[in-house]
Amino acid sequence: MSTTGNVLASTPTPRLLGKVALVTGGASGIGESIVRLFHIHGAKICIADVQDNLGKQICESLGDEANVVFVHCDVTVEDDVSHAVNFTVGKFGTLDIIVNNAGISGSPCPDIRDADLSEFDKVFSINAKGVFHGMKHSARVMIPNKKGSIISLSSVASALGGIGIHAYTGSKHAVLGLTKSVAAELGKHSIRVNCVSPYAVATGLALAHLPEDQRTEDALAGFRDFTGRMANLQGVELTTHDIANAVLFLASDEARYISGENFMVDGGFTSVNHSLQVFK
Ligand code: NAD
Repeated sequence: MSTTGNVLASTPTPRLLGKVALVTGGASGIGESIVRLFHIHGAKICIADVQDNLGKQICESLGDEANVVFVHCDVTVEDDVSHAVNFTVGKFGTLDIIVNNAGISGSPCPDIRDADLSEFDKVFSINAKGVFHGMKHSARVMIPNKKGSIISLSSVASALGGIGIHAYTGSKHAVLGLTKSVAAELGKHSIRVNCVSPYAVATGLALAHLPEDQRTEDALAGFRDFTGRMANLQGVELTTHDIANAVLFLASDEARYISGENFMVDGGFTSVNHSLQVFK
């Protein structure tokens, strides 16, 4: 089964017509689905990623170079994020939406006594500081415009411990904290700030901690099988397209009064008790 889900069968009513969006980590996985869905919905998009070849390939595959561009950007580097925002505004005239999607899972470490603090710094640098860079520099454009939607990818690990490594869980709680804090400041400028928290999806992130020769289709199938069995909602596989749909909603005017939210896309995973199940 495809991890990107079904692309809409017929052309939908465009929900982002004329809007300008910057998507970090847009070269693969969830970010790629967001880029493709935003494009279907009429947005002008800048993909910002460290994977230049993949990012450029998406632009080419969409065949719409006037409306979809790529910029190299490492979200841990403030100047890169500032440049990506300026590049987007230079190309398309403004910035209405930023999706702070770039993230990593970090390497597993089963014993806290062995925790590598450089690994901790790396995860926080991308997942938390990278998100704050995006919030800061998009706000620079959005405040004078008195509008905008800032959406960041958090995770079910923003609500529960034991799902990712400590640094990942801490960083995803940080994304939620930053979302609420920045929503509190930017509300007076009519700028909405939200995050989206998915359950597990079989993207490159799921296998990133493995040596390259072990990142196989079989390993991905094993991940899908395990997370499928652990899911609350059975008989439905979460795809990157489902997450892109949630991001699309928050980006669109349909969500015009929604801010400071943590939008769970988890089939109820963080709402139910996993250890004391009376319904099984
Ligand atoms: P992915 O690995 O498929 O894609 C992540 C993208 O981010 C890649 O294109 C990568 O090149 C880019 N990236 C990494 N470091 C970067 C940096 N320093 N600067 C710019 N770009 C960088 O992962 P994904 O599953 O699509 O994850 C996207 C987001 O969703 C992440 O924030 C992740 O934590 C979150 N998320 C994923 C899952 C899941 O199960 N896949 C679940 C919950 C939340």
